[in-house]
Amino acid sequence: MHTEDTIAAISTPIGHGGIGIVRLSGKDALKIADRVFISPKKKKISGTPSHRILYGNITDPANNEVVDEVLISVMKAPNTYTKEDIVEINCHGGVVPLRRVLELVLNEGARAAEPGEFTKRAFMNGRIDLAQAEAVLDVINSLTLHSQKTALRQLRGGLSGKIAAIREELMDLTAFVEAHIDFPEEDIEDPALKKMEGMAGKIKDSLEKLIDSSRYGMILREGLKTAIAGRPNVGKSSLLNALLEHDRAIVTEMPGTTRDVIEECLNIQGLPVKIMDTAGIRNVQNIAEKEGVRRSLRAMEDADLVLLVLDGSIDLHDTDRELIKNSDANRTILVINKTDLPQKIHPPVSPLAKGGIKEGSCFPIPTVNISAKKGLGLDELKQLIVDTALRGQTGGGAEIVTNTRHVRALEKAAASIDSFISGGIKNVSPEFLSIELRDALDAVGEIIGVTTADDILNRIFSNFCIGK
Ligand code: GDP
Repeated sequence: MHTEDTIAAISTPIGHGGIGIVRLSGKDALKIADRVFISPKKKKISGTPSHRILYGNITDPANNEVVDEVLISVMKAPNTYTKEDIVEINCHGGVVPLRRVLELVLNEGARAAEPGEFTKRAFMNGRIDLAQAEAVLDVINSLTLHSQKTALRQLRGGLSGKIAAIREELMDLTAFVEAHIDFPEEDIEDPALKKMEGMAGKIKDSLEKLIDSSRYGMILREGLKTAIAGRPNVGKSSLLNALLEHDRAIVTEMPGTTRDVIEECLNIQGLPVKIMDTAGIRNVQNIAEKEGVRRSLRAMEDADLVLLVLDGSIDLHDTDRELIKNSDANRTILVINKTDLPQKIHPPVSPLAKGGIKEGSCFPIPTVNISAKKGLGLDELKQLIVDTALRGQTGGGAEIVTNTRHVRALEKAAASIDSFISGGIKNVSPEFLSIELRDALDAVGEIIGVTTADDILNRIFSNFCIGK
């Protein structure tokens, strides 16, 4: 990393806004900014105490033309985002002034920052660890307040503290095991073996708790991928609209994937729920039954949760049975719609019996009655969505793992601890046992960035936007 360079970037989104910020970080940040800044009171940025704001003009040194009227935040090392000198030039928001100011500071010796380079410097300079750096991105991209709180907790070092504690225990155990390597002629005695197993078991518990939390963590971070399925005219689009009316969070489009999917994000009790419109439920009227089923089956394939809608005012149709037959009870909610009309379907229904799957079996899929049109039963449906998604997991204030990279590392560490435990029982050599522990240490170290390869670091920071 060239921390010799002073980097600069536009840190606010490109577009029209109230203000826009050009940020500089590095040892020449103050000097470079001084060359393009003129204060009416002739104040110099380099001579200003840290954490002050100066008023003045950004001026092109080549012709003394005023480029923008600005406020400049001066933050001197080491108490800054990157631990380096930072200058933030608050310009009038707008592409033209921002680009011109950036150009001027680049002309004066700054280098254009790469994506995430400010945060990478914060990591390289030891202000935050890798898990915290990744949390910066999660805070920015949070889908709901609840996701943002979890990311902020990680940014403030919650997960890092937990990982540090596990590393500490692993190091204690490694030291204990390695003490036996010096006495190869002696077998590890029973009490020592018991102690090792106890220590390893505790570490494994901690790793598994974190791995378990990731199911909930992934939902918080990525949103619960939800499909609305069902025959034509059962009320799928009415249900989507009814939910969106109250709980719409954001709309995201994902063109360029194998199927162009439009997603709507709902915020249900803080849980980000992404409704994937793979079935084209919004724009399609009067499609053929067969095509409707095909789309529903497709939508059900990759969803975390399926809302399978039935029309309660008419008898179950063979198509309903086919869809039910294809659903996974663990991730499906049966939504019986149109309860405002006289009902033909009375839960618990047992459509599988008629479908010939399991004669007389009681219906195992969680079921709720609603009227999408009248807005009845929606609160019950939402509660059922949350319960089904979390299945009792709430995180309960403990650390929650939200990042796939962290989960993989924890799984790797847990596998090494498993081999360690079984190796200990089989009485294999302390050298072998210590290798397993070293592997586990490396794996958890990857999470906070003490043992992370450069290419992985680069990949992580390349996901950031420029200017962060
Ligand atoms: P989709 O084809 O499954 O998306 O179904 P739509 O949402 O387009 O609804 C089909 C028809 O059922 C429309 O005429 C809706 O107004 C009607 N509908 C939807 N939900 C309800 C409901 O809860 N009660 C009643 N009475 N009609 C409904």
